[in-house]
Amino acid sequence: EWADFGQFLHEIIDRFEMIAQDKNIEFTRKITAHPTYVEIDRDKMTQIVDNIISNAMKYSPEGGNVIVTLLHQGHNVRISISDEGMGIPRENQAKIFDRFYRVDKARARSVGGTGLGLAIAKELVHAHGGEIWVQSEYGEGTTIYFTLPYSTFKGGEV
Ligand code: ATP
Ligand code: MG
Repeated sequence: EWADFGQFLHEIIDRFEMIAQDKNIEFTRKITAHPTYVEIDRDKMTQIVDNIISNAMKYSPEGGNVIVTLLHQGHNVRISISDEGMGIPRENQAKIFDRFYRVDKARARSVGGTGLGLAIAKELVHAHGGEIWVQSEYGEGTTIYFTLPYSTFKGGEV
């Protein structure tokens, strides 16, 4: 299905804003208004974005800011989700996309999860023709980036 990807992201953020109220997390949207159509499996794409945003919330302190960006970059769109949370030590960053991997078991246990979310997200991003990676500064925050091929009109060529 061809989806207006900006609208798709806005709807997901709207849903998270309602559940984020308890934790006092603020969302900032930097979503291009240019036409951005992406051919997606809606359930799977929702699973990708949900996992990344729930991680940003889980691993952030109260009052943190989460920034969701959508921009055009050549033939792809680049989506990024940034948080002001605990960050990931450099030596652990490559492993977060591995199945069952969780940084710091003791710390991770308190927030719950299986360590599968990002492994699934990676598989599903690849199935959509994109790439996914992380940039993080330990103690300062984390940004997850992913790309997807897009078109400027529904069902069209780029
Ligand atoms: P699940 O998603 O299966 O519920 P999970 O969130 O622990 O469990 P992943 O989403 O795969 O698993 O993430 C793997 C690990 O990467 C996490 O346990 C956490 O240690 C680290 N991580 C992921 N996102 C962040 C983030 N935004 N900030 C800090 N650490 C993160
Ligand atoms: Mg997760």
